[in-house]
Amino acid sequence: MNKNSLFPITDHHMHLDPRCQGVEAARAFQRAGGTHIFLVSKPSWTIGVTINHPEDYRKVFDETVKMANDVAQVGVTAFPVLGVHPAAITNMCDRVGLIRTIELMKAGLEIAATYVEEGLAVGLKSGRPHYDVEPILWDASNEILSYAMVLTREAGCALQLHTESATQENIKEIADMARAVGLHPGKVVKHFSSPMIKEFTDCGIWPGILTGKGMIEEALLQGDRFMMETDYIDDPQRPGAVLGPRTIPRKSLALYKEWGEEVFRKIHQENPQKIYDVEIELTTT
Ligand SMILES: [Zn+2]
Repeated sequence: MNKNSLFPITDHHMHLDPRCQGVEAARAFQRAGGTHIFLVSKPSWTIGVTINHPEDYRKVFDETVKMANDVAQVGVTAFPVLGVHPAAITNMCDRVGLIRTIELMKAGLEIAATYVEEGLAVGLKSGRPHYDVEPILWDASNEILSYAMVLTREAGCALQLHTESATQENIKEIADMARAVGLHPGKVVKHFSSPMIKEFTDCGIWPGILTGKGMIEEALLQGDRFMMETDYIDDPQRPGAVLGPRTIPRKSLALYKEWGEEVFRKIHQENPQKIYDVEIELTTT
């Protein structure tokens, strides 16, 4: 346990790359007071994996699971969240065609679900492109997203989404997509959200709020139904492109004095425990 820790401090969306900072970033997070990470698999093409066959996704997922184990050595609990990046649809389509792309992305999600069933991961990751795409790719992305929701329901886990920027309309649409396949919207989290706490509460999906300047303060004014994330990308090509690993511990330890410990226990412990069905406790080492 970090001596600074009064309550668990969780980064809801982080990537760690053994070619870059990797465990060192987790150590920096831990020294600043961080305790738990939701460790999201990196997009295959950013770690030099070309997907020609569904089994190729195992290289991506095994690396995330291994990183979670390595991070445990420095006293940080990392929960793997595995899936396919929605931008893969553009990335793979040119190479293998749309039909094969849809097949590979669905099969990748099926393999990710087996990791959840084996207890190696706590959730799936899917979504749809955050940039404009042709209607045919948009429809295909929604088909893949809906399939991810079915797999999530079957695996009894949670689903993190990378999508276009949230609006009141599109998050309601996504919540309806989940309900249509029998997945409770409370098992769905939109990663990289802006502080629209009321809108998310109304539609039932959860937001992971990017811990940028002023964002958490704005969210707290509306309540405590959210998680905090950095989307730390740990990419050697883009050092400093995103928020650093110390951001959430520092922010939380600065803000709790004003807002109290209770809201931070909600944000870092109770909310993710409920969504992901995991245990988040301070451990003594
Ligand atoms: Zn990410």
